[in-house]
Amino acid sequence: MADPTPPVPSHAALDWREDGQPVSTAFDDIYFSTASGLEETRYVFITQNRLPERWAALTGSDIFSIGETGFGTGLNFLATWQQWQRLAPGAPRLHFVSVEKYPLHRKDLERALALWPELATFSEQLIEQYPPLLTPGVHRLKFDGGRVQLTLSIGEASDAFTQLQTEDPQRDAMIDAWFLDGFAPSKNPDMWRPELFSAIARLSADNATFATFTCAGIVKRGLKGVGFEIEKVPGFGHKREMLRGQLASADPQASAGQQYTQTPWHLPDAPTRGQPCTVAIIGAGIAGATLARALAERGLKVAVFEQGAGPGSGASGNDQGILYAKLSPKPGPNGDFNLQALQFALRYYLCQCPDAVHFDGLLQLAQSEKEQGLQQQIADTLRGWDADTLVRPVSAQEATDLSGVPLDVPGLYLPNAGWLEPRNVCSTLLEHPSITLHSSQRIESIEHRENHWQLSRHRETFHADVLALCTANGIRDFARTKPLPLQPIRGQVSFAQATDRSRKLKIALCGEGYIAPAHRHHHNPQHSFGATFKLKQTDTEVRAEEQQENLDTLRKLLPDIAADFAQNPMTARAALRAATLDYLPMAGPVADWHSLADTYAPLRKNRKQLIPQRCHYQPGLFVLGGLGSRGFTYAPLAAEVVASWISGEVMPVEGELVRALHPMRFAIRALGKDRPLNF
Ligand code: SAM
Repeated sequence: MADPTPPVPSHAALDWREDGQPVSTAFDDIYFSTASGLEETRYVFITQNRLPERWAALTGSDIFSIGETGFGTGLNFLATWQQWQRLAPGAPRLHFVSVEKYPLHRKDLERALALWPELATFSEQLIEQYPPLLTPGVHRLKFDGGRVQLTLSIGEASDAFTQLQTEDPQRDAMIDAWFLDGFAPSKNPDMWRPELFSAIARLSADNATFATFTCAGIVKRGLKGVGFEIEKVPGFGHKREMLRGQLASADPQASAGQQYTQTPWHLPDAPTRGQPCTVAIIGAGIAGATLARALAERGLKVAVFEQGAGPGSGASGNDQGILYAKLSPKPGPNGDFNLQALQFALRYYLCQCPDAVHFDGLLQLAQSEKEQGLQQQIADTLRGWDADTLVRPVSAQEATDLSGVPLDVPGLYLPNAGWLEPRNVCSTLLEHPSITLHSSQRIESIEHRENHWQLSRHRETFHADVLALCTANGIRDFARTKPLPLQPIRGQVSFAQATDRSRKLKIALCGEGYIAPAHRHHHNPQHSFGATFKLKQTDTEVRAEEQQENLDTLRKLLPDIAADFAQNPMTARAALRAATLDYLPMAGPVADWHSLADTYAPLRKNRKQLIPQRCHYQPGLFVLGGLGSRGFTYAPLAAEVVASWISGEVMPVEGELVRALHPMRFAIRALGKDRPLNF
């Protein structure tokens, strides 16, 4: 039986005063000044961190990062975004990184933000993107075409900052200004603990500044202890004083030498920083397209090489793609990544390519007792969260009403998911002034020479500082990435002409197989359904027996519609997915195989020992692949991970997931089992 207790921490409990101000019932403290929260934010955090002057000195490719304790209603974020838009109108980017232990319910967020009509254009966007499930972990939201990025890390402040760190001191030191908000230390002493100040120091860039409304001794001592110089200045409104300051010297603990808490196999020895550079991407499927877009929005010049005639020629080239995830009732990398990737993808496609998506709803049907038990457990873990806009359990009758076709099994309903047009999505993502697409260009070899990657085809060569391979199973065609364990999985999708009965299907259904509603853009509307799953089969011929297999699977769910389809000729398309052994994507840098094997050889004897050394990495080489059957769900967030590796930014997922998605994880696991690496 599932544990029926809702996960903690969950949402903030609020009281509302007569003047409309929210008050935390747990802390008995206000979220912002009753006199003028907005003016206070501007004075305390924006002015005292000298943001207007510092922003004026930024150039096009710069990124300015702000760290905040206590996201609360998002007022500080929205006021900062508004000022940023006014004062930094060029190309630089703003990254706002905030932690929160008790996120507000969406309805409370809406109510609190309604107090600030002048921020309405910004608040509406935040409310629209606010994740329904702000579960512990990291959530990334993007605004203004990626120019403004919000990373929300949910958890106790010190842990939430720690989970953003990679343990690479250079990469982690990226916050330029701190907004030390949070309830008053007298009401919330627990937050202002020594671990918080250490985390702040580790995340601070050189000369980072801070500002805080409080003058409490615990805060002064904490900040001084990790190297900040402190100054008292007049406070806002009736408050006599507040603190501001600047990092004068590195945290003495941090400068004593890097202390790894685990073997740093995931860290390249020479991390890429955010300088402008050129990137070559091989592959214009959903992996290549999402990565190209993520990098172009970071101001990088991207050249995409595709062997097919255009974007989405391989497994991303089906007629209809279903956006679904494998949710899990248990915490762990697979369930966590699926949930975060699904929430990110739903927001992503609606912003990036609204004309190519059909997010009218999706049902994940439980066609076995085992699946019903699992879905029940998932439903139990969702209690206490604002999950309904993401996923909710429905009975067979509700499933029938929602879908428009008779269904005799219950399921999970995702009202804002659905299906999309894969090729259209890939092409739209690649339409960006910083992306050049080279179609029908099969790259035959890659070499690293004089700090550049050289890509060759016939007698033509192309150069780039960074190279990302997004070629699914083709990742193994290059000697430098051949040892990465990817397995081909053949999948055949069937296409059937819509019939009177099938046209009633309003939303996408998934169970043992899937079926999408009729694609009306076609002259003759048709449904995609399938798909077969043939491990390690590598041909892409259409097979009659797999058409039958797809029909048989559909018959279990919709017998009448399957019988109708069988009356007419059907067509099909077969393609190869590429999956990893643990079914999570590969998203990150690629090590030098010899260096990795030598440096971590002691793991062969004891896989648990900490080896506090990094190995060499292949300079500027990255992969994004292993997306399996969930490419459209996984790619946007996995691409964001790779883009964050390339540009040296805070990761969009917690450190544990960075390692769970890392391409070298399989090599480390193989060493731990004393197995060969096959390079
Ligand atoms: N900056 C917020 C805004 O713009 O609305 C207001 C912040 S409010 C004064 C303090 C916030 O800190 C609350 O949202 C509270 O839940 C959060 N908080 C309190 N203790 C925390 C802790 N130990 N870890 C993380 N967040 C905490």
